[in-house]
Amino acid sequence: MTFKPNKVTDASVLLGIPSDENSSFLRGCADAPEKIRKALFSESANMWSELGFEVRPGVNFHDLGDLSLAKGMKGFSQISKAVDELVMNGNRVLSLGGDHAVTYPVIAGYAKHIPNLTILHFDAHSDLYHSFQNNPLSHASPFARIMEKNLADRLIQVGIRTLNQHQREQIERFGVEVFSVGQITELLALDITGPLYVSIDLDALDPAFAPGVSHHEPGGLSTRDIISVLHQLKVPVVGADIVEYNPKRDINNMTAMVAYKLYKELAAKILE
Ligand code: MN
Ligand code: MN
Repeated sequence: MTFKPNKVTDASVLLGIPSDENSSFLRGCADAPEKIRKALFSESANMWSELGFEVRPGVNFHDLGDLSLAKGMKGFSQISKAVDELVMNGNRVLSLGGDHAVTYPVIAGYAKHIPNLTILHFDAHSDLYHSFQNNPLSHASPFARIMEKNLADRLIQVGIRTLNQHQREQIERFGVEVFSVGQITELLALDITGPLYVSIDLDALDPAFAPGVSHHEPGGLSTRDIISVLHQLKVPVVGADIVEYNPKRDINNMTAMVAYKLYKELAAKILE
């Protein structure tokens, strides 16, 4: 489904960002938006959130299709511009990656209008590499770019379990607040400030829950861990992304359904 520049205002919108050129290990995430959309609108489940709120496509929620992207920085500019215009019109953008590299241009679009964002980031990885495989736009680097350009006030990471020395130094340098898989209670005791942007890398989940990702990192969060955190957020959620779904690694579309589930709960959180 191709992106239609739209006149939608003050709405919750779905934006597909089919990009995986900055993935360091495997390609495949570019096919994710189409596959997650299929799960989202499948007959096998409904669109009622556990919060008691129905996400109604075309009513309180609008699917704008997938961006058609050029390679490299030009593609990043296209993402930023699309998000910038949507946020300027009062929309809350729920985007589907793509690999995690797309979060940097998405946040750049947000920061033009909402400069004091807190980002709640679920991931097995910190994604704070100054550069990875000589690529500063790598999916291992988006949060280094976001923090060095002061595009967010605060970065809170959850599910992190792969830190090396360089990433620990970056955490120190940028003042990132990091919570491991076993620290959900501590996370929830934190004063999470808003406006809040939520970025979910599906590899935050244990591979048992989400096999369809490029980087399997055992010992991860459960789907319920993430849903519980989302439901307990007390500040307004102004935008979110779900990234790193790799259909090539999935089994019976199970991970696409996990993305659907998280998407629905996020959308309801944004709408409530
Ligand atoms: Mn990531
Ligand atoms: Mn990751």
